[in-house]
Amino acid sequence: MLIVQKYGGTSVANIDRIKAVAKRVVKTSKEGHKVAVVVSAMAGETDKLINLAHQTASSPGEREMDLLLSSGERITSALTAMAIEDLGHKAIALTGRQMGIVTDTVHTKAKIERITAEKAKKALDEGYIVVVAGFQGITENDDVTTLGRGGSDLSAVAIASALKADLCEIYTDVDGVYTTDPNIVPDAKKLDKISFEEMLELASLGAKVLQTRSVEFAMKYEVPVVVRSSFNDNSGTLVTKEDKDMEKVVVSGVAYDKNQDKITIMSVPDKPGIAARIFKGIAENTIVVDMIVQNISSDGKATDISFTVPKTDSKKAFKLTEEIAKELGAKSVSLSDDIAKISAVGVGMRTHSGVAAEMFETLAKHSVNIMAISTSEIKVSCLIDLKYTELAVRVLHEAFGLGKK
Ligand code: ADP
Ligand code: ASP
Ligand code: MG
Repeated sequence: MLIVQKYGGTSVANIDRIKAVAKRVVKTSKEGHKVAVVVSAMAGETDKLINLAHQTASSPGEREMDLLLSSGERITSALTAMAIEDLGHKAIALTGRQMGIVTDTVHTKAKIERITAEKAKKALDEGYIVVVAGFQGITENDDVTTLGRGGSDLSAVAIASALKADLCEIYTDVDGVYTTDPNIVPDAKKLDKISFEEMLELASLGAKVLQTRSVEFAMKYEVPVVVRSSFNDNSGTLVTKEDKDMEKVVVSGVAYDKNQDKITIMSVPDKPGIAARIFKGIAENTIVVDMIVQNISSDGKATDISFTVPKTDSKKAFKLTEEIAKELGAKSVSLSDDIAKISAVGVGMRTHSGVAAEMFETLAKHSVNIMAISTSEIKVSCLIDLKYTELAVRVLHEAFGLGKK
């Protein structure tokens, strides 16, 4: 078999961990498999580099930011290859560029366009273990790009697809995908398998165990993905196509997202074209708006509009909104960073009703106020006060009967 193994930040957090990873990789190779490894930066390293940039400049350029951030993964790829060689096995470390990962030009959240992988294929055929620096690629124009936070997951899945690997293993610090974040709810249950669609919802709603775009990619190209721990030999969670068993479960997981801020425009004229003007202006700056609430105006003249954006874009979005608000004659604009989104996900919702009602009731019982709601075929999300996040996750997880007990 050809196996791609991705190791996240905590799995390569220090030299002992890197040596442990090398051992696991060599063991897999000795079992007769070809192995391509994708590594993240050491735990905390990417945040450290981002901090350095912000200490250096008030708004660091995105091209240079990408060059800076890509260095974290380069360090671990080189060290991991050295550790493998030290165990007496041939290994070669490759940067995103050497792997032939070509992306678009959207710095800090680039999309992969193609992967040539010539050098890696040759090395694998010659018996090398290939160790690729995750999270990065290169534009046609030779500029280094990164793939968004958590982007090494995407590197791994895309490389697995390019190499036509039989399996893509995502090694992390928990045993697999759980019914909710096991670090918040100790009673959370590990799932043996989960559908691509549910995983995609969970990921996009905040469960950072897999990056959203990596799940999208795996679903599109049918890459078999297993999420498992690099700290033990437990079997993990298979992410796969939906089957009949999965539909029987109404809610399969609860997710939370603390990475959004809320922008509110007060007293904006209540007439056609206003929402279009606001959201077009924001979209043109590649900022993704998530939840939107427009209050009904009491006098028919002016209304409040609130919406959420990723924290990383909120300052930029706030500035833009202020400009648009002025132009529209709105009263004022405010930014709040103390909100969270809580979601229940499950493919069974397609055929069962009542999930939303149960969710609202449970939150009400614990005096958690709901600021906005959004639903799709297989999820219900509520915007709440940040300080109730853990409470809400716990009580919803229990209300939907997701725990081990
Ligand atoms: P890595 O550094 O290996 O990429 P991440 O920190 O990105 O790891 O993702 C793993 C973390 O995801 C876990 O430690 C856990 O706290 C969090 N998490 C959130 N929701 C879930 C879930 N439903 N199942 C498993 N882990 C989850
Ligand atoms: N090091 C990057 C991050 O922290 C990418 C990754 O770990 O997947 O976001
Ligand atoms: Mg991650």
